[in-house]
Amino acid sequence: MAHRVTLIPGDGIGPEIVEASLPVIEASGATIEWEFCKAGLEVMEEHGTPLPEAVLASLRRNRVGLKGPLTTPIGKGIRSVNVALRKALELYACLRLCKSYPGVRSRYEGVDIIVVRENTEDLYAGVEFEAGSEQARQIAAMGGDKIRPESAISIKPISAVATHRIVKFAFDYAVANNRKKVTAITKANIMKFTDGLFFQVAGEVAKEYEGKVEYQEALIDAFCMQVVQRPENFDVLVLPNLYGDIVSDLCAGIVGGLGVAPGANIGEGCALFEPVHGSAPKYTGLNRTNPAAFIFSAVMMLRYLRETEAADRLERAVAAVIAEGKSVTYDFKPTRDDPSAVGTKEMAAAILAKLQKE
Ligand code: NAD
Repeated sequence: MAHRVTLIPGDGIGPEIVEASLPVIEASGATIEWEFCKAGLEVMEEHGTPLPEAVLASLRRNRVGLKGPLTTPIGKGIRSVNVALRKALELYACLRLCKSYPGVRSRYEGVDIIVVRENTEDLYAGVEFEAGSEQARQIAAMGGDKIRPESAISIKPISAVATHRIVKFAFDYAVANNRKKVTAITKANIMKFTDGLFFQVAGEVAKEYEGKVEYQEALIDAFCMQVVQRPENFDVLVLPNLYGDIVSDLCAGIVGGLGVAPGANIGEGCALFEPVHGSAPKYTGLNRTNPAAFIFSAVMMLRYLRETEAADRLERAVAAVIAEGKSVTYDFKPTRDDPSAVGTKEMAAAILAKLQKE
């Protein structure tokens, strides 16, 4: 069966990575019809918005999307298109796979951590009050002597509904992907109501999976120390938004960084897959950057579409090229100016050749 997928090439290095990677993804064996949609800087002028309604309509129709990175210019008044997409489609779960591949420069090996981050609330809900504003003063007054009167204030909402939804997502992911343990992570010893609620609800959800998936709780500070000491002790992690954001990057760093980190934002019946890295403007048009994170995002997408064999084949081909270390981009090499590094197109072509030999 052909899958119809919305494809957003993105800005900066996005289009060149997408162009090089599509033939590779198509050679995996899954049949995909791409519906190309432009978003970001290049459509701003024509549409007056970086996120035209047609893009959202395409994603709502196809329910699955694959995207390159989109630039968020600093100080130009454009809100992040990535955040707007997540909000418009209620993509409440951010899923990041942090897996070691031989050939990737890293201090660790054998790491395979899944980070599930809540995407809709917490300190990222955007409820903030400027220092000196009337509202900030009123809230400060409610805090008694715990808040200095001239403080700026951010509100941290955590709800049982959103927590239940994200923790259930993590456990369902664990069951579907044969994972053994889910660790919920907060700072509930200090934030007893917000993070305390997260643990309380997570514990309740965990009971529904007793005997199938182990449940564990960790405090964020202790977790950070433990994960850099023994990352192999962790399996699936589930966290509120802010901790999830930080821990996603920490775990990506543990397995070798942005070049190999795929991700997805998933909601009820709709999912958007994308590499963790951004549009790397300084490399635009130079055919230098690594297509692996984008192709690994496509591997995640194929698994979501239940194209397991195609996903396994594609993952094996990328892993084989990385392990050989010959046809790889500069970021796999000991130095940035290593003359043996190849370009985006050449690395994608090497992956394609591996697939065709299978
Ligand atoms: P970035 O990930 O674009 O680049 C940081 C550095 O990482 C690059 O200079 C490069 O050295 C390296 N890098 C990134 N991707 C690489 C790849 N595929 N291969 C090899 N090296 C790679 O981060 P940034 O510079 O902070 O952000 C640039 C723009 O991207 C900003 O506008 C930001 O808002 C946006 N961004 C978008 C997304 C997204 O679309 N999901 C994510 C992160 C950043």
